[in-house]
Amino acid sequence: MYDPNNVFARILRGEIPCKKVAEDEHTLAFHDINPQAPVHVLVIPKGAYLSWDDFSARATDAEQAALTRMVGRVAREAGLAETGYRVLANTGRDGHQDVPHLHLHVLGGRPLGPMLQRPRD
Ligand code: AMP
Repeated sequence: MYDPNNVFARILRGEIPCKKVAEDEHTLAFHDINPQAPVHVLVIPKGAYLSWDDFSARATDAEQAALTRMVGRVAREAGLAETGYRVLANTGRDGHQDVPHLHLHVLGGRPLGPMLQRPRD
């Protein structure tokens, strides 16, 4: 179930501020409040979508194209296209998703290490 009071829904409604990077009709990009890399931008759809599986099933083609294009735009404009970057979407319990509104992390600006931590014993 989508919770309309999640923090990103509140940012989209203008109830709490964000450090905006870019915006279009369907998509918002803003700096993560707790950056894990020199560049750490979150790209979110403006619609009420929980996850990638939800978004890909329900979003319009225009919304899906906008999200894809915004990720590339953020990477290019942050200067990451040359050095490389990582795009990830934590999803659900096993993915450690904290905010229940689809968001893509765009991370870069330093070597990012291996893709996954080893699970703790
Ligand atoms: P996830 O674990 O993938 O759900 O990540 C949620 C991300 O949202 C974390 O990296 C948080 O630092 C970030 N975050 C939480 N609240 C805010 C906020 N108000 N503005 C910007 N980023 C936020």
